[in-house]
Amino acid sequence: MRVPIGQGVIELHQGDITDEATDAIVNAANSQLAGGGGVDGAIHRRGGNAIMAETDARYPEGCPTGSAVISGAGDLPARYVIHAVGPVWSGGGRGEAALLADAYRRCLELAVDHECRSIAFPSLSTGAYRYPIDQAARVALRTVIDFLHELDRPLQVRFVLFDQGAYGAYAAALEEM
Ligand code: ADP
Repeated sequence: MRVPIGQGVIELHQGDITDEATDAIVNAANSQLAGGGGVDGAIHRRGGNAIMAETDARYPEGCPTGSAVISGAGDLPARYVIHAVGPVWSGGGRGEAALLADAYRRCLELAVDHECRSIAFPSLSTGAYRYPIDQAARVALRTVIDFLHELDRPLQVRFVLFDQGAYGAYAAALEEM
């Protein structure tokens, strides 16, 4: 699925984010930038040790929830990895939606600051962090749509959804919007 927005475009794609040759790919990181399972495990496994060495050196304090930091991409096909920290779901009453939107926005800002023309996101917070995917999809897409409407240059934003369920949730949310 592909929807032009302003000078940009949103694409939905089913696959593995570590295969993406976009300028930047986004990691679903934790606030210690300590490595983990899911997307994080796949990125460090395929990208090699250089990524963690760089984040340890540049961001020794880690990264707060709702924000993101950037590094090189080691052996991955992308140029940059943007390490985003989404919220852990705890029922929705703890500002999760705002924190999730902040994390997406910060990634987009970092991509633009680094002159990226394309960025690939996984579905932040919907794995180990248990954010309900239908709600997460709406927050993610709304944030990207608003950002692209305001942006004065082209940017390709691709959501790389790991399985058919995730793809379906994002496709349904995008159609609704
Ligand atoms: P979080 O801790 O933010 O919830 P996870 O990495 O556990 O992050 O999961 C986020 C989402 O990414 C989940 O929907 C999961 O199915 C998906 N996912 C896991 N591995 C990959 C991958 N290699 N590429 C794309 N998506 C992935």
